[in-house]
Amino acid sequence: MNDLAGKVALVTGGSRGIGAEITRTLARNGAAVGFTYHSAADQAHGVEKDIQALGGRAFAIQADSADPEGVQGAIEATAVEFGRFDILVNNAGVFPSGPLEQVTMEDVDRTLNIHIRAVFAAAQTAARHMTDGGRIINIGSCLTERLPGPGMTLYAMSKSALTGLTKGLARDLGPRGITAVIVDPGPTDTDMNPANGPAADFLRGFIALGHYGQAQDIAGMVAYLAGPGGRHITGNSILVDGGFAA
Ligand code: NDP
Repeated sequence: MNDLAGKVALVTGGSRGIGAEITRTLARNGAAVGFTYHSAADQAHGVEKDIQALGGRAFAIQADSADPEGVQGAIEATAVEFGRFDILVNNAGVFPSGPLEQVTMEDVDRTLNIHIRAVFAAAQTAARHMTDGGRIINIGSCLTERLPGPGMTLYAMSKSALTGLTKGLARDLGPRGITAVIVDPGPTDTDMNPANGPAADFLRGFIALGHYGQAQDIAGMVAYLAGPGGRHITGNSILVDGGFAA
């Protein structure tokens, strides 16, 4: 498939897990991709080299999503490097969890900075650079549809805020043919949520298909939405969760 030939994308958090697979998939579909990472420099450069070895175009950018200027700078660097800008995928994320009474205001600030403030700043900057018909794809979570246990209030709150943000972007940018969509993964086998981790059996119990998703399940949906098939889908959320929220 070469649906994205000539398009330029930025993926936040592309060094590992779902973001790395999104980066690889967009590049395989023909896009030139900038992607950010926070601390996993070796893995980020591994993704970059793998894509380049297959003849694709990608480059890694160190940028902490907790700092909006980092993400804004990454978009600008991508637009300059590849000469245009079409697709923004806000994927970088953390998973704060634990007893409510132990959550600090520093935890709240950092989580909201990464999951929401950075996404707002990135969308604003992306809109300035984006061609008409561009795409903004935000990675949310199935936990905004079904929260099956305690200790995840901050995470669920931060991901739920993407709903208003995404609907607003759809309205603000729709006249330019730019879409804004949330992809909500279910439990997906990554460092954040390993399929053999301590919470896995509990979470698996809610999945209609009975097993964890793989990063490529999410990446495939993102690539579809980024391509021609996504042109009339905006302002909504799409669960890719194996029936977790059913
Ligand atoms: P991983 O922990 O495997 O990877 C997280 C990625 O985000 C890494 O590339 C990491 O960079 C990057 N990142 C984290 N913090 C920052 C930061 N401050 N600045 C820049 N980059 C950062 O997570 P997943 O791949 O599992 O998760 C990806 C997204 O999917 C997240 O938004 C998560 O909330 C969401 N999600 C995941 C689910 C799952 O079950 N896995 C379920 C539902 C949603 P680095 O490598 O440098 O640390």
